Amino acid sequence: MRRLARLLPFGAVGLLLTVLTAWGPAIFGWFNDGNLVATYESRNTAPPAWLTPEDWDTRSWHATWGPGIRSDLISEQVWMGSSLAMTTDGRRQWTVIHVRVGFPMYAMRWLDYASHLPEEDTRTGRREWLMGVNMEGVVSGLLPARRIDRRIPLRPIWTGFALNWVFYAACAWGVYAGARAIRAAARRRKGLCQRCGYPRPASRTGHAGSRCPECGA
Ligand SMILES: [Zn+2]
Repeated sequence: MRRLARLLPFGAVGLLLTVLTAWGPAIFGWFNDGNLVATYESRNTAPPAWLTPEDWDTRSWHATWGPGIRSDLISEQVWMGSSLAMTTDGRRQWTVIHVRVGFPMYAMRWLDYASHLPEEDTRTGRREWLMGVNMEGVVSGLLPARRIDRRIPLRPIWTGFALNWVFYAACAWGVYAGARAIRAAARRRKGLCQRCGYPRPASRTGHAGSRCPECGA
């Protein structure tokens, strides 16, 4: 139980860093690469199933990414030049954008229903849970316009979130353990108590005494 309590601060730091490395790219991230898979006459089967809402007649899949951020646009519209275009064949023309953020793994996400909000769900916080908290009103003018809204996601991607959490908690522990080892080595060299830094009287054999007169270590 005490050992568990000792690990708590590292868990807290790990959690904080997991959230910050997701919210950071969500607000400040940029896109520097991308990929487009478009079809015109037939359904686009290239995007992974989990990205494609059921019964969608998808035509366009436009993925863009940068450090710690990735956006996947899935649309029933067709891709014309550099943007989406409606077709006149009477098909539904819905679009959704999945944004994933986090580092080293994607840990949080939000959806941007460019054409509609599919769930007529007005429960408090439901919209923010799905779509994140839009920060455009806060950061506009401070940051350049971006293809994807700057939003703070609330929704975790559980696998990535857990892996990042463990990763950052381990990093925090490593920094702490390393700093302690360096301090202990420096004290040992100077003949000080490794635990409290109190000068230790030399014993008869010329080595530092076996017990610290200050802390008893
Ligand atoms: Zn001591």
